[in-house]
Amino acid sequence: MVNSTLAGLTLTPQYLGMKTDLSLAAGRIPAPDNSRLSNAVSSQAISRRAALALSATAAAGVLLSPNVFAADPKRRVVVWAEGTASVDETSKKIYPQDVNTAIAEGLKPLEVKGWEIVVASLNEPDQGLSDERLNGSDVLIWWGHKKHGDVKDELVNKINERVREGKMGFIGTHSCHFAKPFKKLMGTACSWREYVADGTSAEIIVKEPEHPICQGVKSFKLPKIERYGEPFAVPTPEAVPLDGIYTRPDGQTQPGRMGLCWTVDKGRVFYFTPGHETYNDYYRPEVRRIFVNAVQWAAPKAS
Ligand code: ZN
Repeated sequence: MVNSTLAGLTLTPQYLGMKTDLSLAAGRIPAPDNSRLSNAVSSQAISRRAALALSATAAAGVLLSPNVFAADPKRRVVVWAEGTASVDETSKKIYPQDVNTAIAEGLKPLEVKGWEIVVASLNEPDQGLSDERLNGSDVLIWWGHKKHGDVKDELVNKINERVREGKMGFIGTHSCHFAKPFKKLMGTACSWREYVADGTSAEIIVKEPEHPICQGVKSFKLPKIERYGEPFAVPTPEAVPLDGIYTRPDGQTQPGRMGLCWTVDKGRVFYFTPGHETYNDYYRPEVRRIFVNAVQWAAPKAS
């Protein structure tokens, strides 16, 4: 039997009156992103004449032709993790090189589309995200669990600003719901009602087959999942392309959203619920396809 909590997701008292500065206006025309153009120009060996012509065109406010953006050399996605999954006894068997490496492997199909895939860790200098790396990134994927508190507020602020300015998309997954950057972007508590690992399984349901994140994805089952019980204390998403039904060991079922989308100011944010570190979710072809799609969806648009 399906419980009826789903219908109340956005209407529970704790959400009402919740103030956020999220802009959920879909279809908004993005502001011109001159930084992307600058990056493209600076990293290309172009003639001085061409550069002058280009800057003159930009200065005149003329719409740039698609050819200019086709010259954009690389797009970069950074897959960040806190470095705990590869250390803990049970999870290191599944993710000996941490969760970020497994997610990054699944993004390989993006390379032929001109994407650079970078793995980053909390353990690295600058917590894996130097200004140079961050400022050259189009999408940031985040996995954290035990070390949310170690992430420096200064870095969180930079991530938040870059996303809100429309320069970078953000993808959070699983226990990242309590990660500082995600909470900062959502502006809410970001808690689920319950977290239960009792042998529950789940069906991940493609709810919006036309949504870019669902392209090439069919509904699929996860034999084990950590059950994150609704409601999820986040702002009302602009889309929920992936829904889900948990089946508990006693046969009872309950709904749970699995893939949620927001536009936060000018930036796009996606959250994917599965991904507990002792399950092999990030090796599954369906999950990998979702991430490949989500990176392209979340990336700032070139025009
Ligand atoms: Zn977990």
